[in-house]
Amino acid sequence: MPCGKKTSKRPTTRKTESKKKSVLRDILVEGLSEDHVAIIERLSKPKYDEDVAAELKLKATIVRTLLNDLHVNNLVGYERSKNKKTGWYTYLWNRRDDKVKEYIRGYLNKRLEELNKQLDNEREGMSFNCSCSRMPFDSAMETGFKCPECNEKLVEYDNCEIVDRIVNEISKVNSLLAQTENEFLLEKGK
Ligand SMILES: [Zn+2]
Repeated sequence: MPCGKKTSKRPTTRKTESKKKSVLRDILVEGLSEDHVAIIERLSKPKYDEDVAAELKLKATIVRTLLNDLHVNNLVGYERSKNKKTGWYTYLWNRRDDKVKEYIRGYLNKRLEELNKQLDNEREGMSFNCSCSRMPFDSAMETGFKCPECNEKLVEYDNCEIVDRIVNEISKVNSLLAQTENEFLLEKGK
């Protein structure tokens, strides 16, 4: 049976814009960690690792480890220079905005793929359920439309709500993807 259309259009306000920004930030935190993202945010302009450490009140060794993780993911780069007096190398770190964007877009595209697969599954044929399980038409027919576990009659499952939810989620992800085209996602400065 076809699902009823009841899409509600909400106006875009600045509040939802900043909410989107924090969703994009959350994606980075999920893939990396809060500390990694804190460092990315500090690198709106190139900085030495000890300066980042001081700003974040973290040990320089920890910050270096975090920076190395980010470097492995191509999210930051550095310029190395040798201190002529001490012979030590210093590293001036910079953020690679294009790669950060790519990282987020990769995450969103993967999510979109999953959602579209789910949607295809939901729209593909009917399914049946009882109070304990849900199954496709073929399996339901095999049991004679009676659940072997709970003995209840299997009835056609109304998945309109699930389809609606997936469709909504897809449009949310698409709007986040569009957002990544337009502007940079993390707060600058500080
Ligand atoms: Zn059952």
